[in-house]
Amino acid sequence: MKALDELTFDNRFARLGDAFSTHVLPDPLDEPRLVVASNAAMALLDLDPVVAETPVFAELFSGHKLWAEAEPRAMVYSGHQFGGYSPQLGDGRGLLLGEVYNQAGEHWDLHLKGAGLTPYSRMGDGRAVLRSSIREFLASEALHALGIPSSRALCVIGSNTPVWREKQERGAMVLRLAHSHIRFGHFEYFYYTKKPEQQKELAEHVLSLHYPECMEQPEPYLAMFSEIVERNAEMIAKWQAYGFCHGVMNTDNMSILGITFDFGPFAFLDDFDAHFICNHSDHEGRYSFSNQVPIGQWNLSALAQALTPFISVDALKEALGLYLPLYQAHYLDLMRRRLGLTIAEEDDQKLVEQLLKLMQNSGVDYTLFFRRLGDESAALAVARLRDDFVDLAGFDAWAEQYKARVARDGDYSEAQRRERMHAVNPLYILRNYLAQNAIAAAESGDYSEVRRLHEVLSKPFDEQAGMEQYAQRPPDWGKHLEISCSS
Ligand code: AMP
Ligand code: MG
Repeated sequence: MKALDELTFDNRFARLGDAFSTHVLPDPLDEPRLVVASNAAMALLDLDPVVAETPVFAELFSGHKLWAEAEPRAMVYSGHQFGGYSPQLGDGRGLLLGEVYNQAGEHWDLHLKGAGLTPYSRMGDGRAVLRSSIREFLASEALHALGIPSSRALCVIGSNTPVWREKQERGAMVLRLAHSHIRFGHFEYFYYTKKPEQQKELAEHVLSLHYPECMEQPEPYLAMFSEIVERNAEMIAKWQAYGFCHGVMNTDNMSILGITFDFGPFAFLDDFDAHFICNHSDHEGRYSFSNQVPIGQWNLSALAQALTPFISVDALKEALGLYLPLYQAHYLDLMRRRLGLTIAEEDDQKLVEQLLKLMQNSGVDYTLFFRRLGDESAALAVARLRDDFVDLAGFDAWAEQYKARVARDGDYSEAQRRERMHAVNPLYILRNYLAQNAIAAAESGDYSEVRRLHEVLSKPFDEQAGMEQYAQRPPDWGKHLEISCSS
């Protein structure tokens, strides 16, 4: 375990120099205070969790103090936003403070979001408000606990600094951790500004530090791109299987590591709805829940375009062609497990599709359905769940198929079935209304609800005593909350 001043830095991205990022000091927040910290994320830096309660912790993660070895930098990138190319983006309000390596030899970027103006702030104020910082914190840690690759969050620091959005709010900072903050948009920036040398340097950096195993391949860049395709296919399969809607899948928000990244108006589905749009500025539904799958491919094509200086178009196309089959294989595998099935059968895809259609038509709670399906034997579970459906004949037909399918799957006890299914079907997810309750309390100075919700979501598969209220369908006010994309 380390104290805060014992972190070891190795700022590999900063060493790439001024063509890639600009030195900027964080602009401190007034009266910083700890809102919430993640012990699991602290452990990634070998930090003793008790240090979160010390005043210096809040000072370090609100821009008042800096390690001597930190080299705060704002990164430059570009990207496709809602399908159109934005030539100049970059860290407009976040800073890469430096890269820390831990005792296990892993490097972690420390990225401070909400740290003030940078050369890439454009019309923005460089700040992040408490509400969006809490949402990013809760989502990163909750996704990780579900087994969905994500950036991590160390803490949220609140303050008295006024920040103007639709109304006056308070500024906050979230400390984000990831092995890299390089986005698809980094490659696009150097491609479209026609800087082949820097683009090559960036590609070498990513290849050698993040995809070293690809360097052994005959075509290392192609191997790296194929790996990125595979990781994205797997990540999006997990989003779809668990009902996570990202909301702003612009290429500047897509990580080169295939992790969920840059949280905005994201949501987990309450009722299953394939057409759900969580971002209320997304008028055309470009990033609706079901569109995430083709958009994943669209984004990879945008990255492929930026990699044409290194890889032949034919090879890129072939690698892109892997996306959908890989996605489908990962998705079906997860959905089979969510249904409690252990072997694959040809018609499983249909079984899943039919169920989702029935759930869609009846507005069935996506998370609780699967959890309850594993509570008891297949026959008892479907008999109990039947009441949630409007199309009873449709559900009965599905239930008959499902029971027959379970019977063919194998002979296991109810207890084995429950254990296996509960290990993949969470009881607790980050419902928008739960986040909203925690934010409302935090905005009035009470951080206990954020902390409790974070605790509950860190063990989403384990039933926790006294936490029944976190495993309910949303109340009427909490359904279809409009989450502002201002943050
Ligand atoms: P986002 O939609 O949060 O992924 O941000 C898109 C771009 O806008 C990125 O370059 C951000 O750094 C920038 N940005 C977002 N909010 C602000 C803000 N309040 N101040 C400065 N830049 C911002
Ligand atoms: Mg972004």
